[in-house]
Amino acid sequence: MDFQSVIEDIYQEVLPLSGQGKVADYIPALQSVNPKKLGIAIETIGGECFMVGDAQEKFSIQSISKVFNLTLGIQTKGDALWQRVGVEPSGNPFNSLVQLEYENGIPRNPFINAGALVVVDTLLDDLDRPNDEMLAFVDRLRCSQIDYDEVVAQSEKETGFNNRALINFMRARDNIRHSDEAILDVYCHQCAITMSCAGLARSFLFLANNGVVPSSDERILSSSQTKRVNAIMLTCGFYDEAGAFAYLVGLPGKSGVGGGIVAIVPGQLSIAVWSPELNRHGNSLLGIKVLEMFTTKTGLSIF
Ligand code: GLU
Repeated sequence: MDFQSVIEDIYQEVLPLSGQGKVADYIPALQSVNPKKLGIAIETIGGECFMVGDAQEKFSIQSISKVFNLTLGIQTKGDALWQRVGVEPSGNPFNSLVQLEYENGIPRNPFINAGALVVVDTLLDDLDRPNDEMLAFVDRLRCSQIDYDEVVAQSEKETGFNNRALINFMRARDNIRHSDEAILDVYCHQCAITMSCAGLARSFLFLANNGVVPSSDERILSSSQTKRVNAIMLTCGFYDEAGAFAYLVGLPGKSGVGGGIVAIVPGQLSIAVWSPELNRHGNSLLGIKVLEMFTTKTGLSIF
C-alpha cells in the first residue's frame, strides 16, 4: 500500500479543519505551542517510514508517556501491579477525584492520572534513578536523543495541585508509599518528555510486534503482556472518549494533552499524529480525524 500518498492526501484534507479546538492551557508552559502544527508519521515493522508535515518536530508527549510508564511497571512488578490499579475504562475525566473516592483509592486504570501516579509509586520501589532509566528505556525502543523539557516539568510540578490531591487521597487509602515530591518529580518529567511523531511511531512498534522491537529483536514484553497493554490502550487510551475512538478509528492507541496520538495496527505498523488543538475531552481534534480517515481509506483496523 502506498502509505506516503495516503497520509499526504489526509494531511491536505484535514488542514482546513484547524481552528476548531483549543490548545491545553492548564499547564502554563503548554500554552505557547503553535496551534497550527500538524504532523503524521508511520513506521512499519519491516522498517519503512513515511512522514508528512511537522512529523519531525518534537512536542510534549504528556499522557502518551503513561504507556512507557506502564510498560516499565509491568517489567518491574509483573502481575503484582494489578493489585494496585485496575483495567476498566473510567468514563470520567482523566484527573477525576470522584471515582477514586467511591472505589476506595484503587484507580480504574493506569492511563488516568491516579493510575499512572500509582505505577510511578511502584517504580520508585525498584528504580534508583527513575528519570534517567525512563530515558534509557525509550532509547532501547530505538528512539534516541529524547529529553525532558524542564520548563514544562517545572510548570506542571508548580501547578499540579490536582495530581497532589490524587496522591494524597490514595495515600489515605494505603495505596501510595513514596513521598509526594518523589512521585510528582517522576510523573511530571514523564509527561514532559519531548518526542516527534517519527520518534513516537518508532518507539511504539514493539506493541505492534508482539512485544519485540523489530530493528533490534529485543523483547520488551511477553506476547501476553503486550496483548494486555494493547487492550488497555483500546479501552482506556482516550480519557472518557475511548468508546468513540474505538468506534471511529478501531485501533489501540494513546493520546496526550500536548496534542499527540499514537496508534498501532498489530502485526503491521504504528502511526503517530500531532496537532495541538484539543476537543473538549482533551484529545487532539485533527489527530482523531486523521486516524479515522487513515483506517477508513486503508481498511486497516482491528475490527
Ligand atoms: N501532565 C498532565 C496531567 O497530569 C497529563 C495530561 C494528559 O496528557 O492527559 O495533568
